[in-house]
Amino acid sequence: MVVARTEEEKKEAIAQLSSQLKGYPQVADEYLEQFLIARSWNVDGAFKQLVDTFAWRKENEIDMYPVATKENGLPVLYPIRGYSSIPDQNLTAQAGVAESVLRVYGNMGGSCLHKVDNDGCPIYIERLGYHQAKLIAKNTTAEEIFHYHVGCNEFLHRVIMKDCSKMAGKTINRETVIFDCTGMGWSQFHMPAINLIRTISDVDQKYYPETLNRLFLVNAPGAFVYVWKIVKGWLDPGTIDKIQILGSDYQSQLLEYISAENLPSFLGGSCTCDHLPGGCVPSQGIS
Ligand SMILES: [Zn+2]
Repeated sequence: MVVARTEEEKKEAIAQLSSQLKGYPQVADEYLEQFLIARSWNVDGAFKQLVDTFAWRKENEIDMYPVATKENGLPVLYPIRGYSSIPDQNLTAQAGVAESVLRVYGNMGGSCLHKVDNDGCPIYIERLGYHQAKLIAKNTTAEEIFHYHVGCNEFLHRVIMKDCSKMAGKTINRETVIFDCTGMGWSQFHMPAINLIRTISDVDQKYYPETLNRLFLVNAPGAFVYVWKIVKGWLDPGTIDKIQILGSDYQSQLLEYISAENLPSFLGGSCTCDHLPGGCVPSQGIS
């Protein structure tokens, strides 16, 4: 349970954590706050998690991960729509795109970083129901998934969050996620594939804490309740509170947090992104 703190107590905890970090890389107060929230404002816990994160980043050379910007023209790892510092585009086979990236993405049902919610946070949409879970598990290694996922995270935090912060006029360091389960069947509940997801959620909780604004799982089949019970056990209680599992009657809930023009029409909004092949969220599952 996250203990409620006064603004004064929060400021004090941030200052205390900051002073303990002398000699470590300098980071923004908002970044420290993410670790403090993740550790229920326990300064020693947050300090340990931060030091572990610095070590993990150094060991895996995370700061060296290349991310796409308008200036360097590097390819994106998934489609993007609606940001000011980088043009809308799809992921396509082209020079500079690793074969493993195309393989990972090609077995996914379709995903896109699509505009912002009412808080100014970027929205990541994934067509979970069209994932080729068995092929992902068969054709990709945990290491490839790890690199792809970290590459996406770094792009999100180094490029898109900065863009959104500028647009919102405040620090944006969280994303809203929509998982669309349309098309989902038992083939998605493939244990080796679920284990790969677990690898990813472990990385995120340890090294990218408190980066979720809200998560909506829409068109969730009844069977999902089953899997949800497993997945819940891997997540922090603070994370579980941000998650809404919704059936087919989800549109009004999404529109409470996302304006219609920023929400794809297939999710109840009015956006169609006709200017790019595949529309709002190009999908491998739909022609
Ligand atoms: Zn769109």
